[in-house]
Amino acid sequence: MSNNPSTLPDDHESFAELAAGWALYALDAQDRAAFALHLPICPPCQEAVAEFTEAISGFAAQIPDVAPPPQVWERIRAVALESAPDATSVRLASSDGSTVGRVLVHGQHLQVLAEGLPRNRVRKATYVLWSLPHGEGAPPRALTPFDVDERGAVIGGAGELGAELASISAFAVSFERGRVMPKAPSKVVASGAVAGSGG
Ligand SMILES: [Zn+2]
Repeated sequence: MSNNPSTLPDDHESFAELAAGWALYALDAQDRAAFALHLPICPPCQEAVAEFTEAISGFAAQIPDVAPPPQVWERIRAVALESAPDATSVRLASSDGSTVGRVLVHGQHLQVLAEGLPRNRVRKATYVLWSLPHGEGAPPRALTPFDVDERGAVIGGAGELGAELASISAFAVSFERGRVMPKAPSKVVASGAVAGSGG
């Protein structure tokens, strides 16, 4: 399970320039999803994101010698979304009904939080968040990939709804082999209905 830091993913060069946009929450949905898949397996990009985020947040002033791990920024984004007065929190439950996470939504922005999803092996598998629209036969829509680390924290998991929340009946989380977002969920491991959603 050890990573060799001297070995970069082959496609690192094409991602390095996205790190600043990621830290600034400024990537479009396609770049965000691609970078979310690359970040967990690329220590240099993790460092770059940490540096950019420090630079733009002022957070580093409080802990000058510590580069926070990427998971910290998922929590900060989640807190920022949750503190908005019109934010929505959707509980994600596994098939036995136990809570395994939440989706925080504010406007078009969303952030996934895990509360009991098992760690995935980031080189071999990924989680994907889906929205399930109202209406029969309407296909699920892949929103963002994310990973869960050994402490159960989400890495990535920031995305855009791409639709009105009222048009979404539920969110679902799938577990996918490989590092791509498929056209349809393979193995759904959690889901949660959007409360007050019409239809
Ligand atoms: Zn990289």
